[in-house]
Amino acid sequence: MSRVVLATGNQGKLKEMMDILQPFGWEVQAQSDFFDSEAEETGLTFIENAILKARHASKLTGLPAIADDSGIEVSALKGQPGIYSARYSQDLHGDDANDETNLQKLLDALAGLPAEQRQASYYCAMVYVEHADDPTPVIGLGRWYGEILTEKRGDGGFGYDPIFWVEEMNQSAAELSKTQKNQMSHRGQALNALVMQLRRGA
Ligand code: IMP
Repeated sequence: MSRVVLATGNQGKLKEMMDILQPFGWEVQAQSDFFDSEAEETGLTFIENAILKARHASKLTGLPAIADDSGIEVSALKGQPGIYSARYSQDLHGDDANDETNLQKLLDALAGLPAEQRQASYYCAMVYVEHADDPTPVIGLGRWYGEILTEKRGDGGFGYDPIFWVEEMNQSAAELSKTQKNQMSHRGQALNALVMQLRRGA
């Protein structure tokens, strides 16, 4: 594999993915270098949505593509917001919903719950397709366990990071350095799992 398009419009994710992939000598390009449209995320699982995004990018570029779909699952909410993490507060804020309103809705939903009932995990599915109709997508998965804080800590990362407590580091995900986050995160784990499989087949 030489050239591959990364199917994400999120600059934070793009940087994390490029940092992990570039040392392997692959020429990676963002989908925003080619087109603006986004794939419709109509799947009911992270894996389905990641495949939809990868096919979309591959179809529009004619290149192999890597896409991720990720989110946060909260035990006390039976796994919600899950695949809807990016759109969690859309019911309250419509098109104005953003990372901040999502995070606030989650804090409100868990208000009053003690620490032992605030377990959560980030989950990521990372998918590679050789071409748009590839019948055998390669899939790497990752899960990162933590706990939802009662208020924000730190200003790094993005999304729910300021309220995601990482026990073994005694810090929130937003307090970790980028390198630390990449080493532990759901996305880092999934990308590494994907890379292992791609290298085996190279
Ligand atoms: P996606 O871009 O459709 O995969 O949606 C991912 C959403 O899940 C983001 O908008 C965030 O709300 C949340 N999320 C996924 N990964 C992270 C992370 O590493 N930190 C914080 N939030 C994340």
